[in-house]
Amino acid sequence: MKDFQYLLPQTLEEAVRLKEEYDKAAVFMAGATDIVVRMRDYLLTPEYVIDLKKIPGLDGITFSKEEGLHIGCLATMNEIAGNEDVRKYYPTLAAAAESVGSRQVRNRATCVGNIVNASPLADTATPLYCYDAVLEILGPNGKREIPITEFILFVRKVALERGELVTGIRVPYREAEGEFRKIARRDQVDLSTVCGTVLKFGDEYHIAMGSVAPTPLRLKKTEELLAGKKLTKELIDEAAELAPTEVNPIDDVRASKQYRLDMVSYIVRDVLTKLA
Ligand SMILES: Cc1cc2nc3c(=O)[nH]c(=O)nc-3n(C[C@H](O)[C@H](O)[C@H](O)COP(=O)(O)OP(=O)(O)OC[C@H]3O[C@@H](n4cnc5c(N)ncnc54)[C@H](O)[C@@H]3O)c2cc1C
Repeated sequence: MKDFQYLLPQTLEEAVRLKEEYDKAAVFMAGATDIVVRMRDYLLTPEYVIDLKKIPGLDGITFSKEEGLHIGCLATMNEIAGNEDVRKYYPTLAAAAESVGSRQVRNRATCVGNIVNASPLADTATPLYCYDAVLEILGPNGKREIPITEFILFVRKVALERGELVTGIRVPYREAEGEFRKIARRDQVDLSTVCGTVLKFGDEYHIAMGSVAPTPLRLKKTEELLAGKKLTKELIDEAAELAPTEVNPIDDVRASKQYRLDMVSYIVRDVLTKLA
């Protein structure tokens, strides 16, 4: 690992100021489960690492039906997976957080880090896409919010401007049924070959898939096909056929393109069948 200077701001304002000053020479660090691996492999060689962990008040998880869920940027996967409100009102997010790595990884890894890292297979992304989550951002020019679907732009590319950091994720509340699915080569401690979430809000459907394109995706055509209709076997067949036409996976070490296309179809068919 290349030497770097370790910075430990005590306030958000200080963190923003440091990032604005050092810009691309600096990276933020939360749980460090992504950046340390990348730094060890020389894929990331920052001159400065800005550790956010000593800034107070960033690890909270709060919920009300009016305000929805708020996940602070230092809330870990284990805290999210074990939170009673998340389990009750956002069970697919709890399941996704619980599926990440090992218990040790989940004790450090944050959901915000999972999203900012912008891997196509980030497990918490697809439930957050389905729930229309919003990223809360603080930067030199103050606060702003951005929907998650506009935040992740490409593999490891997000819509953060110079000096900006993510303070938390806001997830609106709507009553929903559905499931998160992770297809991986092993049950534990494996990255998703394909992951996906299918949610039903009344007669509206939200479907998101991961590891099937450079970013996680909402399957808008399949959602439109299903909207307002009763889930019959014919309709589910049609949706399972349409869904893979909306993604563009690659062959890689984990699976072939065709396998991923088949898994997208399978997840859509299986969850819709359970919802019917
Ligand atoms: C053994 C192992 C297994 C894993 N298994 C899985 C898995 O099954 N599924 C999965 O999805 N991931 C998995 N991961 C990846 C990783 O754990 C997650 O992506 C994790 O959630 C990243 O969060 P972190 O807090 O550790 O982020 P960090 O490594 O600290 O940071 C990740 C990125 O986010 C940025 N960042 C962090 N916080 C902020 C902020 N508040 N504002 C702006 N930028 C910020 C950092 O600069 C960096 O670019 C695994 C990792 C390991 C090591």
